[in-house]
Amino acid sequence: MPTPQENDQNYNSCICDGCPSYPGNDKKLYCARGKSDKKIVMEGCICPAGCPVYAEHKLKDMYYCINGKAR
Ligand code: SF4
Ligand code: SF4
Repeated sequence: MPTPQENDQNYNSCICDGCPSYPGNDKKLYCARGKSDKKIVMEGCICPAGCPVYAEHKLKDMYYCINGKAR
């Protein structure tokens, strides 16, 4: 599966804003957009825990906000 597209549908489906590690006041959809410019404190990653973009693209990894986009 290719890297998810950066589009409104995926943006709205992204659940990062409910994640304990989400830094707030930042654009989400890191699996498509790449890593955050913010400092992220790792307090868990909920990507595999119900994100429809994750499931659709059969993603395997976590912490896209730190590690950058899915490949
Ligand atoms: S996989 Fe993670 S970064 Fe990608 S859309 Fe879902 S919650 Fe957001
Ligand atoms: S990529 Fe994972 S760790 Fe980072 S904010 Fe999204 S769900 Fe949380």
